[in-house]
Amino acid sequence: MDCMWTDATFILFWLHVYTWLPGHCHLYNNRYDGDKVIRIVPKNDIEAYELKALYSKLQVDLWQPSSLSYIGKDTVTDVRTSNNSSQTLLTYLRNSNIQHTILVNNLQKVIEKQNVSGTQRYRRSLSRYNYEEYHSLDEIERWMHHMNKTYPHLVSMFSIGKSYEGRPLYVLKLGKKASRFRKKAIWIDCGIHAREWIGPVFCQWFVKEALNTYHLDPSMKKILTLLNVYIMPVFNVDGYHYSWTTDRFWRKTRSKYRFNCFGVDANRNWKVKWCEEGASLHPCDNTYCGPYAESEPEVQAASQFLYKQRKHIRAYLSIHSYAQMLLYPYSYQYEAIPNYHCVASAASNAVHALQTAYGVLYQHGPASSTLYLSSGSSIDWAYNNGIPYTFAFELRDTGYYGFLLPESLIKPTCTETMLAVKNIALHILKKCR
Ligand SMILES: [Zn+2]
Repeated sequence: MDCMWTDATFILFWLHVYTWLPGHCHLYNNRYDGDKVIRIVPKNDIEAYELKALYSKLQVDLWQPSSLSYIGKDTVTDVRTSNNSSQTLLTYLRNSNIQHTILVNNLQKVIEKQNVSGTQRYRRSLSRYNYEEYHSLDEIERWMHHMNKTYPHLVSMFSIGKSYEGRPLYVLKLGKKASRFRKKAIWIDCGIHAREWIGPVFCQWFVKEALNTYHLDPSMKKILTLLNVYIMPVFNVDGYHYSWTTDRFWRKTRSKYRFNCFGVDANRNWKVKWCEEGASLHPCDNTYCGPYAESEPEVQAASQFLYKQRKHIRAYLSIHSYAQMLLYPYSYQYEAIPNYHCVASAASNAVHALQTAYGVLYQHGPASSTLYLSSGSSIDWAYNNGIPYTFAFELRDTGYYGFLLPESLIKPTCTETMLAVKNIALHILKKCR
């Protein structure tokens, strides 16, 4: 019978409807079709100089390192290029015999394959929140309200201000309420850079693990009894939202001053050696320091909060990706910090703890010499304002997936990072001289 509504025709019907639904178009309007990510290593200063001029002309998106100023001889550089400019760049590399590898051949295809936009995903209830998925800003905020309501004895939630586009800047405070003494604290922020999606995932993972293991794990019990942990899952809320809706590789905030380009690098905007080495004065650059220090309301709100709490906060942690590094001050100079031995041993122990999970190796050291010189960074600001332990984590990986770390790697990445963060928390409870 022709018109019988069999299972097969039913499926075909839905496939047909599905492909014509307005939501089923290419993610991000197919803007990354043909984009490549190419790893390039100049072997001498002349090659580096010529490449930098070409990157600038082609307006490539630097993934690692984040600014042209960091590129020199032997610098491993991951660049994203559009379909047109990648042909120019590849021809140049071949003709000049410069070492390079194509890490991603068609970025759009990788994004489509991962399809984590959330629009077509089945929405689970908040009590069955999936911590092994990337979540939109809206989902993360609803989750924060839910955690605040569900664990009133261990969690409180507040906003430290408003973003440029007027969104609240929410922070969760975790810890057993103490009546007799003022507790020491740790601050963890994630998502200063919008495209580093593994950051906000880790902040949520930390909260989940802390609350789930509080009664089972004596070290977690100790941490939450003796310390308050402030968690800011999405620091750069406007940028993060934009990275979900419009440009997956957006890094900066979304402010607009008197220029054609949007956004400021929220990790170059702090009032510490503002806009000196390793930051750009050009509003279109990814490391633009802003028109003045703390021009970004997100940076201003966080620095005001941290400054008020500086006598209690013993450690400041900022979660980034990607590089697999644990960095501490200074970023802006090569000089060692006064309590170098305490901080360096905390970092070394944390990295060893991390490695015990899956054998993943992290480099550790001062940000200036381990990664590159940068001014106006949050770890330098926090350190210079009296917080004795300040770290920036650069999570997985080292460039194979880069900012598109697949969801299947969320669990191992967060599990190992959790060990490092707990190790630091326990370290600061001990005296170090
Ligand atoms: Zn970052």
